[in-house]
Amino acid sequence: MKVIQVNKPGEIAIVEKPMPAEPGVGEVLVRIKAAGICGSDVHIFHGKNPFATYPRILGHEAAGEVVKTGAGVTNVKVGDHVAIDNVFSCGQCHACRIGRANVCKSVKVLGVHIDGIFSEYVNLPADHLYVVPVDLPWELAATLEPYAIAAEAMDRGAVQPDESVLICGAGPIGLVILQACKSIGARVIIMDVVDSRLEKAKAMGADAVVNTKRQDLEQAVMEFTDGEGINVAMEATGVIPVLELIVAKLMSPAGKVVVLGFPVEPAKFSPADIMKRELDIKGSRLNNKKFPEVIQWLADKRIDPTGLVSHVMPYAEVERGMDLFSNHPEEVCKIILTFDEK
Ligand code: MN
Repeated sequence: MKVIQVNKPGEIAIVEKPMPAEPGVGEVLVRIKAAGICGSDVHIFHGKNPFATYPRILGHEAAGEVVKTGAGVTNVKVGDHVAIDNVFSCGQCHACRIGRANVCKSVKVLGVHIDGIFSEYVNLPADHLYVVPVDLPWELAATLEPYAIAAEAMDRGAVQPDESVLICGAGPIGLVILQACKSIGARVIIMDVVDSRLEKAKAMGADAVVNTKRQDLEQAVMEFTDGEGINVAMEATGVIPVLELIVAKLMSPAGKVVVLGFPVEPAKFSPADIMKRELDIKGSRLNNKKFPEVIQWLADKRIDPTGLVSHVMPYAEVERGMDLFSNHPEEVCKIILTFDEK
């Protein structure tokens, strides 16, 4: 079978590997059908993900078909269409014991710390598989992982229907958070530096958009909130001055800041800005068993992934996909690789 592997930073190849072994107890053999290219895949390719090790089979956003089940598997059966939860945890540490397995002290993520799902077949633990409707197109089923990220961010920000939300970054993650916020009735202003992304955000229901190349973010947020400041800020750009501005100037009293971008350089805050308004500043990483929730969102038509997918291409064109992602942000939203060819 073929897999997409980054041999070392900057070197990606389609490699022939032996088929996975027969699924063991609690395991399931899945034939991958579609998989999304994520910023983190591109960063791993370029050697810019601080968590990655090499060589690495990429990919953590995927859907596929159950081919074979090992002993003791009851939640899926052969022929089921499944989405894959990419987060692996130890079950023993403090975070796991308190139900926060996505920040397990030895968390492992498919395609980052362990080999991923840009692969024709994978053996996976059954408890990482979630059945999706058979009439859901594969390329849309592969977007459920980003929606799980949105569900996590909504949870961390405890977003309420009557709150105002600023989303920083109108890439795929910003857009899935936008859809999630709009689905509960929150008012959303979203910022980016690429007009075509902001157009897409408008089409998906954003109440206001700001291109910070031309417009002042603080002024836009104050106009949007009648001078109150924003109730929830979702920071998904990873641009440090954006986070610094959020904390210093943009939040309402009792505001909540959710940090999704993860540059490693330090940011500067005044503790007084956090204290005087009792800001909550929370990280949001991966997803904490959110797949059942987002599959329900889809069933209830609270979200619509169709606008998210900008490109569908065979896995053999992964380098073209990576290049598009890196060099043409104005054209690209979510790129899906298909693994149908034999
Ligand atoms: Mn991703």
